[in-house]
Amino acid sequence: IDSDEQILIDIHTQSTDLYHHILMNTEMGQSALDYLHNRGLKDETIDKYQLGFAPSNSILKTFLVQKKYKYQDLRKSGLFLEDDNGDLKDRFFNRIIYPITNEFGNVIAFSGRILNKDDNQAKYLNSPETTIFNKRKVLFNFSNARNTIRKEKTTILYEGFMDVISAYQSGVHNGIASMGTSLTDEQIYLLQRNTTNLYVCYDGDAPGQNAINRSIGILEKTQLKLGVIQMPSGIDPDEYRQQNGESKFKSYMHSALESVISFKMHFLKLNRNLDNENDKINYINDVIREIAKISQPIERDVYINQISEQFGLNKIDLTNQLNKLVNRNN
Ligand code: ATP
Ligand code: MN
Ligand code: MN
Ligand code: MN
Repeated sequence: IDSDEQILIDIHTQSTDLYHHILMNTEMGQSALDYLHNRGLKDETIDKYQLGFAPSNSILKTFLVQKKYKYQDLRKSGLFLEDDNGDLKDRFFNRIIYPITNEFGNVIAFSGRILNKDDNQAKYLNSPETTIFNKRKVLFNFSNARNTIRKEKTTILYEGFMDVISAYQSGVHNGIASMGTSLTDEQIYLLQRNTTNLYVCYDGDAPGQNAINRSIGILEKTQLKLGVIQMPSGIDPDEYRQQNGESKFKSYMHSALESVISFKMHFLKLNRNLDNENDKINYINDVIREIAKISQPIERDVYINQISEQFGLNKIDLTNQLNKLVNRNN
């Protein structure tokens, strides 16, 4: 790490402290703190994640200039917007601040969330790419979760920062999230070096289901052992904790684990009417294609039996069709 990068990390560390102080100890931060408390976050958790609040008065610029940081370094930090005259003003304002750390635990970027839904603005705003922040490489919470991940050989991938933080508060410490994008090769590489099992736990809404399917498609090409933790319809993990409490959250993470194939069997039914012959045939063909991806013959047999029983189909026909696909995969 060169000294230019160290300066940018220092700027982020100082900014994190300032935003956190504003949230916890000032009148400016009170409504944001109330908001987080209303979502059921404890001060202990807010401290752990160094959550903060960016008010609307460009306070960060004043603060960092007082600390004698140079204009060029402030510019490169990504924390400021630059007008036509080259003047800087705070990029984040009126937002709750989530510090984003690299794999060593240094803060390298922020994500900011609006307080109220009614705004026309994006719910989350992320720092732009900088010399220290490459969002393709970052997994939110990885530095916190790493020890648990290595010990348990298991990682849970959530959709949102709040889901990861909720999980942490509930005693589930192996959670990570990507930066609101689909998984990159760099993130997968980091995961493969540290975990054996990867469970995808996205939101129980339609975008969440599609995102699970997309992530599974990417992860199937790796050596990771995959599973899906399906949320109840319409809610995300953080909402599950808010509604049911932390100990239920924790037990849910264990009890709701399902195999990729059982997720697929459910997913492939969405938007299909299995009373319709065409839909039914397409569904069965799609499921057989998924079963063909399973490497264990006995496991394949279990699912072929299920399909055979469920649709009253001849097992030999199903197996023949399956074997054609299996041979093609090998
Ligand atoms: P919250 O619980 O605070 O409302 P969420 O995590 O449930 O947030 P989702 O809408 O489920 O929000 O989105 C999941 C994740 O996608 C977010 O945590 C964030 O990382 C990312 N995301 C969502 N909206 C945006 C946006 N407008 N710009 C960038 N990233 C976004
Ligand atoms: Mn979502
Ligand atoms: Mn969500
Ligand atoms: Mn949410």
